[in-house]
Amino acid sequence: MKAIPYGRQEITEADEQAVIETLRSDFLTQGPKINEFEEAFAGYVGSKYAVAVSNGTAALHLCALALNVQPGDKVITTPITFAASANCVRYCGGEVAFADIDPETFIIDINKVRELLEAHPKGTFKGIIPVDFTGYPVDLEAFRKLADEYGLWIIEDACHAPGGYFTDSNGDRQSCGNGQFADLAIFSFHPVKHIAAGEGGMITTNDEALYQKLLMLRTHGITKNPDLLERNEGGWYYEMQDLGYNYRITDFQAALAMSQLERADANMAKRKAIAERYDKAFTGKKMVLQKQERGFSNAYHLYVIQVEDRKGLYDHLRENGIFAQVHYIPVHTMPYYRQFGWKKGDFKKAEAYYDRCLSIPMYPNLSEQEQQFVIDKVLEFTEK
Ligand SMILES: *Cc1c(COP(=O)(O)O)cnc(C)c1O
Repeated sequence: MKAIPYGRQEITEADEQAVIETLRSDFLTQGPKINEFEEAFAGYVGSKYAVAVSNGTAALHLCALALNVQPGDKVITTPITFAASANCVRYCGGEVAFADIDPETFIIDINKVRELLEAHPKGTFKGIIPVDFTGYPVDLEAFRKLADEYGLWIIEDACHAPGGYFTDSNGDRQSCGNGQFADLAIFSFHPVKHIAAGEGGMITTNDEALYQKLLMLRTHGITKNPDLLERNEGGWYYEMQDLGYNYRITDFQAALAMSQLERADANMAKRKAIAERYDKAFTGKKMVLQKQERGFSNAYHLYVIQVEDRKGLYDHLRENGIFAQVHYIPVHTMPYYRQFGWKKGDFKKAEAYYDRCLSIPMYPNLSEQEQQFVIDKVLEFTEK
């Protein structure tokens, strides 16, 4: 039996064809596929604007720049995330603060964020970066209310959650990254994520001013837009108005992502079916599953179980060709972040979660036989 990873991309013939067509076209970068993908992605998540970039980390960096994070600015995020969620603050010289997770849903606990805000004078913090961890949608309606009380911006790290949504207090469906409550949201198109572009990222927003700023920052801070130029010296003329970067995605990556986006709904249905089979097999067994609250539709980038002997289970699965993974080592315990005074013991819930968590295989083309093999091997260990 071939190895079963925790996550895996799916490339179809249609995907290959889409890339080949772009390679044979006039544009390798900054071509028509980028705009097409941005429009389609904005449509998919329900935001007004979308800006495609070279990867999810670049997306986070541009968001922090667009929101004008300055040296010393304090920003709150969760310790249970990929380091990039916090690093974007550091790129701008800001300081990262953490708020502990809810031990049942594993996502940032709004009560801990409120406690942190209340413990400091107003104006101490500038923003919050909540993460739709595993694909579980953060209740951004509640976060928006809290953020407004304290004058904070919100960047939703929705890398795990394209296709996830929650039902707000009016009964309306709010898709992750739709820009309704967060100022900006970001996505990644790394191969293990829902949509694979090789490398790629996206920022979505409903704020036109931020959108214009992001477009400029993505390309060196340069604009050719006649409406924005200070003067116009001719057809060649452009202005560098801000210090930006080259964070562009290529046209053939956009073509691949666009082709994958067309299967997003079908793949979401497959992820949900896999989650249901796991739920059924594991309920009542010697493990803790993520709580799925009513009204919150998980996009299931990850399926996480918590077990007493995590290392034992990890090794047992590996011996059987199943490559489970741990998401995540708490960011505040990383050597880099310890230099700012963070240490083990600071966030008990996150650390307890980390000690026991394991992400088991979850990807659309995981076959039922493969999944059954995973289930059998997990239970063989936990129920022994
Ligand atoms: C993958 C990921 C990122 C970074 O995306 P890249 O495209 O790999 O740079 C950031 N945050 C979270 C939560 C992620 O899962």
